[in-house]
Amino acid sequence: MKIYNTQTKKKEEFVPLEPGKVRMYVCGPTVYNLIHIGNARPMIVFDTVRRYMEYKGYQVNFVSNFTDVDDKIIAKAQEEGVSASEISQRYIEECKKDMAAMNVRPATVHPLATQEIDGMIQMISTLMEKGYAYNVDGTVYFRTRKFQEYGKLSHKTLEALRSGTRSLLVTGEEQKEDPLDFVLWKPKKEGEPYWESPWSQGRPGWHIECSEMAKKYLGEEIDIHAGGEDLIFPHHENEIAQSECCNGKTFARYWMHNGFLNIDNKKMSKSLGNFFTVRDISEKYDLQVLRFFMLSAHYRSPLNFSAELMEAAKNGLERIRNAVSNLTYLSENASLEEMTETERQALAGLGAYREKFEEAMDDDFNTADAVSAVFELVKYANSQVSAENSKAWILRVKEEILCLCGILGLIAEEKEELLDEEIEKLIQERQEARKAKNFARADEIRAQLLEKGITLLDTREGVKWKRA
Ligand code: AMP
Ligand code: ZN
Repeated sequence: MKIYNTQTKKKEEFVPLEPGKVRMYVCGPTVYNLIHIGNARPMIVFDTVRRYMEYKGYQVNFVSNFTDVDDKIIAKAQEEGVSASEISQRYIEECKKDMAAMNVRPATVHPLATQEIDGMIQMISTLMEKGYAYNVDGTVYFRTRKFQEYGKLSHKTLEALRSGTRSLLVTGEEQKEDPLDFVLWKPKKEGEPYWESPWSQGRPGWHIECSEMAKKYLGEEIDIHAGGEDLIFPHHENEIAQSECCNGKTFARYWMHNGFLNIDNKKMSKSLGNFFTVRDISEKYDLQVLRFFMLSAHYRSPLNFSAELMEAAKNGLERIRNAVSNLTYLSENASLEEMTETERQALAGLGAYREKFEEAMDDDFNTADAVSAVFELVKYANSQVSAENSKAWILRVKEEILCLCGILGLIAEEKEELLDEEIEKLIQERQEARKAKNFARADEIRAQLLEKGITLLDTREGVKWKRA
C-alpha cells in the first residue's frame, strides 16, 4: 500500500511502526457552527482510508479532535449571550449527526481540547525547560529558530519565512524575540474562558492542542497525521516543531492532506455567498450522494462542487443501487439454488474487479479508480446476470458489489424499515399459518422478518419481537 507523503513529496510504501497496527490522527473541526461541505471532505476521505486499512487487516487507532476553545467559538458565545462550552457542545452534537448521516464512523477517540489542558501545560513546561519556549508577560512563545528542521513539511526555509513574515507582525506581538515565533499559551482577555497555568490565567494556542492530543492517545510517534491542505502551514509545521522538540522523536511518519473543495470553481467562503453546510445539502440529497461525490475524485485533487456534479453523483449512486436491488429481485426469482459448474468457474473473473479495486486503493487511495472498478462490476451484473443464474451466484455478485461499496463506506442497499404495525401484522399471519399447520409459511415469515433485522421470541405469553 502506497501513501503520498506531503513531507517527502513522494508515494511511499506504508510500513507501520508496529506490525498490524495503525496510529492515525486527523485534525477535526473548530465547533462554532454547523460543519460545511469543505469540512466534510477530510472526514469522508480519512474515514475511507481507515476503512480500507481495516479491510487490509490493520487495527486502526483513529483519533480526531474537536477544537472546542477558539476565538470564533468565544465570539459566537458572546453574540448569543451564552457560554463558550454551550456553543461547542451544541455544534459537536450537530457535527456527530452529520457524520453519522455521511456514514463517517466515530473515531476511536474524539478528544476535546478543553479536557486536555493539563497535558498541554506539561508539554509547554518541557519546551520551556529545554529552551524551546519563553514567557513574556504571561504569553508563552515557541522559539522557532531553535528547531533546525523547521519548514521540513511545508518545504519552506527559515530564511524565506523570515523575510515573508517581517511585515506580518500583529499588534501586541512586538514582544516576540522573532516574528517566526508562535504562541503556545496566551493570557485571557476579559470574559474569555481560562485555565490556571504557571505563566498566566489563559488558554493554549491551537497548535499545541493537537500535539498533546496525538501524544496522549497515540504516543510520541505516530504513523499517519492528516488534515486539509490548508493545515500544512503553519498548523502541522508547528505541531512537528513542538512535538519533536518536546519528545525528541520523529512525530509522524506519513503526512496526508486532502485538496480543497471549491464551489463553482471558486473558493468557498461566507463573504462570496457560495457557502453550503452539510445540513443544507441534506435537505436536497441523501448524504450518501455527498459521500459518493467526494470519493469520485482523488483526495489530493481540488474538487469542484456544483449542482450538475451533484446530480451526476446522484445518478451514479443510483446506478449502483438499482443494480443491487435488481440482483435482489433476481435472487428471489431464481429457479436454481446451487451454483453451477460454469458459475463456479466464473468466480475467478469476479475476483478481477476486486483486484482492480484494491490496486486503485493501494495506490494512495485512488477512490476515483476504485469507483470505476465498482461501475465495471455493476455493468457486468446488469448485462451478464439474469434469473437463469442460480440464486447462490446472483447473491455472490450482489455481495461483491456491497462489499466493495462497504469499504468506501457507501451504503448501496437501502433496507426498508418495517413499521411496528407491519411487523405485528406479519406475526399475526405467522400465528395463523402455524395454527393451520402451514409451517413452511410460518418459517418464511420468520426469515423475512429476520432479514429486516427483526427477531422473534416465542414465549409463554405469546410472540415477542425485537429489532437488531
Ligand atoms: P477547521 O474547522 O477550519 O479547522 O477545518 C476542519 C478541517 O476541514 C480541516 O482539516 C480543514 O483543512 C478542512 N477544510 C476546511 N475547509 C475546507 C475546504 N473548503 N475543502 C477541504 N477541506 C477543508
Ligand atoms: Zn490539528
